[in-house]
Amino acid sequence: MEKNKVILLLSGGIDSTTLLAKLKKENKEVIAISFFYEQKHAIELQYARNNAKKYNVIEHKVIQLDSQLFSGSALVNSEKQLSTYSNGENPIGQENAYVPYRNLVFLSMALSLAESSKINNIYIAFNKDDCVNFWDCKSAFLTQLNLISEHSNIQIQAPLIELTKKEVIMLSQKLEVDLNETISCYQPINDKECGKCLSCLVKSRGLNN
Ligand SMILES: [Zn+2]
Repeated sequence: MEKNKVILLLSGGIDSTTLLAKLKKENKEVIAISFFYEQKHAIELQYARNNAKKYNVIEHKVIQLDSQLFSGSALVNSEKQLSTYSNGENPIGQENAYVPYRNLVFLSMALSLAESSKINNIYIAFNKDDCVNFWDCKSAFLTQLNLISEHSNIQIQAPLIELTKKEVIMLSQKLEVDLNETISCYQPINDKECGKCLSCLVKSRGLNN
């Protein structure tokens, strides 16, 4: 087994970039994987590429998926509008940015890669705020998946899962992550964060509260 090598799901957002910086600080050798599924915020892949390079990952794989798998999501389907919010709102429950079983698909692929490459640890950057609106970011979801991955002695870890967005941002500052080199928006306009989607709302809450 490749003891020091880990796989990280890297999106280009604050959470996974912070986790990348944390893993590198712990001297892990990181293989990053990102996904292109015609998401409205596909610009995130450019940020993921830049950070993969900056943090010297061993390899950065970008896996392309058929967007029809995820047509139920407003994050992918151009005929569906993403929900928007004003600052101070506190949406609870399933969001229409939810992508049907995306995290299971992503993590299944990461598991295939891990077993093929003899790597025991996969990292994903769920945080406490994600758990409010997305069932597939909760620790119960990970626990169930880890029961399956036990068969190949692979662990999926989410070390930021107990941290709120604000706490992740504090950690990012401690690790000197440049937040300008991340993007956290579901529908960037001219490659800039829209300021209205759930992701922008959560980021603004993390920065300002
Ligand atoms: Zn936005």
